[in-house]
Amino acid sequence: MQKYHVHKKKMASGDHEVHKEGCEWCPPQDQLYSIGEFPTPEKALESAKKKYPNANGCHHCLPDHFQLV
Ligand SMILES: [Zn+2]
Repeated sequence: MQKYHVHKKKMASGDHEVHKEGCEWCPPQDQLYSIGEFPTPEKALESAKKKYPNANGCHHCLPDHFQLV
């Protein structure tokens, strides 16, 4: 299982980035909302979208889930 966090602040593009724990591009802890542990990034994104409908994968740690908007 991998822990995931979502950035509480919106990016300039209007989305909330989802990061794997330990990502070097991860923002400071106080700007993160922990969404928990998931077996796959798909599940993490799904859960993040319940809180932030415009959640998007980090282009660094979740490149397969990063979508340009
Ligand atoms: Zn990341």
